[in-house]
Amino acid sequence: MPTTAPDRYAVIGHPIAHSRSPWIHARFAQQTGQHLVYTAIDAAPAELTLSVRGFFAQGGRGLNVTVPHKLRVLELLDDLSERARIAGAVNTIVRESDGRLRGDNTDGIGFVRDLTHNLQVPVSGKRVLLLGAGGAARGLLAPLLALKPAVLVIANRSPERARDLAAAFTTHGPVQGTDFAQLESQRFDLIVNATAASLHGELPPLPPAVLAAAAVCYDLVYAHGSTPFTRWARECGVAQCATGAGMLVEQAAESFLLWRGVRPETAAVLAALRA
Ligand code: NAP
Repeated sequence: MPTTAPDRYAVIGHPIAHSRSPWIHARFAQQTGQHLVYTAIDAAPAELTLSVRGFFAQGGRGLNVTVPHKLRVLELLDDLSERARIAGAVNTIVRESDGRLRGDNTDGIGFVRDLTHNLQVPVSGKRVLLLGAGGAARGLLAPLLALKPAVLVIANRSPERARDLAAAFTTHGPVQGTDFAQLESQRFDLIVNATAASLHGELPPLPPAVLAAAAVCYDLVYAHGSTPFTRWARECGVAQCATGAGMLVEQAAESFLLWRGVRPETAAVLAALRA
């Protein structure tokens, strides 16, 4: 048994009680023999600065950052990784040995790892539809375009956000922004729901014909079993549907790697989370 105090990590968000991250990181630590504790910090937006500064002042080694702080936390950091800079959002903070706080973003790589490695979904040459234009959608764009889809269309309830987002990523690949109504006559191989609609028990206003023609539907929202979106997709006949559980575990493994220098095995943890 180690005699030193464990290194401290946490996830910060609001609300946070539902978070599975402490459970996931406890399993990673056990599996890799790392001496650490990982807790959850509930911080309303007005408390973010004090909570982050207080955590690191008391010796904390790293934080995961979740809704609604992924954008605002940038102003508290000394440095950003290239992928966090491109995403414009941070989900992982690393305290460097000199005390500087470095922001990173493992959401995109976690999503792509789940999609291509765990689920074996091909993206190269495929038509991809991304629903939503918030922080999560932004984090997925560069990693998805790096997989060389034939086209990536972003559709959002507020269409100007989709068009602005597409314009910001045109150097990364063939990307367009539009609104839901314009999708009526289009067909896609893969549809990724990066809206928060499922969190509120709602569906994005997608024409059903577009959904019915898709081969794979993926909802980023973590849920036990299914979400309103994946249930609707199944009813429309979509063969392969996935929720955000795999992404949640894979992005956590990438954060763990940044902090501890070792990448945990994810398959058993993902199976246990689903069970
Ligand atoms: P966000 O920045 O608040 O953006 C929310 C997006 O959802 C916006 O595009 C918004 O459209 C859209 N939206 C919200 N309610 C909607 C509705 N009823 N119908 C249609 N569109 C709706 O949130 P975020 O950080 O991007 O997160 C989005 C989702 O991804 C969250 O549910 C989060 O749980 C999930 N997520 C999962 C993981 C994982 O590891 N599994 C990681 C990151 C995020 P407007 O622009 O029109 O408001």
